Amino acid sequence: MTFATLGLIEPLLRALETLGYQTPTPVQAQAIPAVLAGRDLMAAAQTGTGKTAGFAVPLLQLLTMEGPKVAANSARALILCPTRELAEQVHASVAEYAQNLPLTTYAVYGGVSINPQMMKLRKGVDILVATPGRLIDLFRQNALKLNQLQTLVLDEADRMLDLGFSEELANIYRMLPKKRQTLLFSATFSDEIRQLAGQMLNDPLTIEVSPRNVAANTVKQWVVPVDKKRKAEMFVHLMRKGRWKQVLVFAKTRNGVDALVDKLQGLGINADGIHGDKPQATRQRALDRFKSSDVQILVATDVAARGLDIEDLPLVVNFDLPIVAEDYIHRIGRTGRAGNTGEAISLVCADEVNMLSAIEMLTRQTLSRHMEQDFEPEHRVPDTDASGQVVKKPKKPKKPKTSGGGGKRNLGKWVDSGDAAPVEPSIKPVRKVPVFNTGPRKKK
Ligand code: AMP
Repeated sequence: MTFATLGLIEPLLRALETLGYQTPTPVQAQAIPAVLAGRDLMAAAQTGTGKTAGFAVPLLQLLTMEGPKVAANSARALILCPTRELAEQVHASVAEYAQNLPLTTYAVYGGVSINPQMMKLRKGVDILVATPGRLIDLFRQNALKLNQLQTLVLDEADRMLDLGFSEELANIYRMLPKKRQTLLFSATFSDEIRQLAGQMLNDPLTIEVSPRNVAANTVKQWVVPVDKKRKAEMFVHLMRKGRWKQVLVFAKTRNGVDALVDKLQGLGINADGIHGDKPQATRQRALDRFKSSDVQILVATDVAARGLDIEDLPLVVNFDLPIVAEDYIHRIGRTGRAGNTGEAISLVCADEVNMLSAIEMLTRQTLSRHMEQDFEPEHRVPDTDASGQVVKKPKKPKKPKTSGGGGKRNLGKWVDSGDAAPVEPSIKPVRKVPVFNTGPRKKK
């Protein structure tokens, strides 16, 4: 199959050829004819499968062939994305696909001044890429009208809900014309997403190019059990041992990102970090420098997981496992893209076992474990498998061979991995903490 057989017009074929796209990916092969036929879509596609071209290319064709010229302060198609980075990236792809067409494209998102965006929208744009919050701001300030809108694309819809945008989406839904085409893309499909689709889509065609919730099989995935306090040391050890060149590292919190970057930089390692507390320009600069290999290690929170498309990124490291299991799929989807192979390594400590179990259940696989010599954890990571079972039964504590030999004493009792406290579920019931009176005790 070729792009020409899918019925694409010559300026688009030329653009795709310039980009080196020879054959349509499976999601493109299914989505392009359906979008051209005006159908609503509900598409589940793995990250890195070419879904952006799957919706953007036929959309550009429809906008070129049909419909009136865009009016002032209007958009003919709207692509909603969960993060600024993704909005930037989707816009960059759309602009590349549109390079031979007389259409205008633009991206708006928060964290930067709204005024230039309002100015730019004055003439109207054919395709507007936006994050939900900024879109609503622009709409409320009358900088944008949506009555000319022909097509709405929800990209990474599951992520939008995870990030708490359901209210914004409901607001946007009320702003849209009833008659329109709606395309919903999501790497994973939760029941909540299906509900959203039921509301927003009209007789949609369902496309599922890969089994539900399965990570790209071009990515070799493995887990290294390690004690929490030795994670940074382990990272540096693996990095040196594996002679890692370009690594994207995910940490759970902003502080975690900063702490790891500080530690790496302190060791003379070329590292930088991105997270939501940093200004947009700083984030973009770090990302660009990583893409151009001026930065070797980029440490990020999940904010960055959606916006990165780096050719041939060989390795993703989960310094911490994500709290939401679906994020694991998105994170490791930064490698093994467009048919390349990649590797994803997760440093897992005992109190992340429930997250590990949730990931294995979601991806329907038991991740292989690799114990690193001299880093065997004191707190054993209980066994897990794809059924969601966490084997909490601790191993029998080892008896000391001689006094003073390897191991740790604790009130006369030997502590090894088997003595680790059973791991609590990650969501604990809230318990009231008693308030103690530290003053002198009253006699009863
Ligand atoms: P996406 O899933 O849209 O983020 O795309 C992942 C990567 O695959 C991007 O770098 C695209 O440029 C690339 N890509 C998309 N479609 C094709 C294709 N048909 N042939 C080759 N590369 C592609």
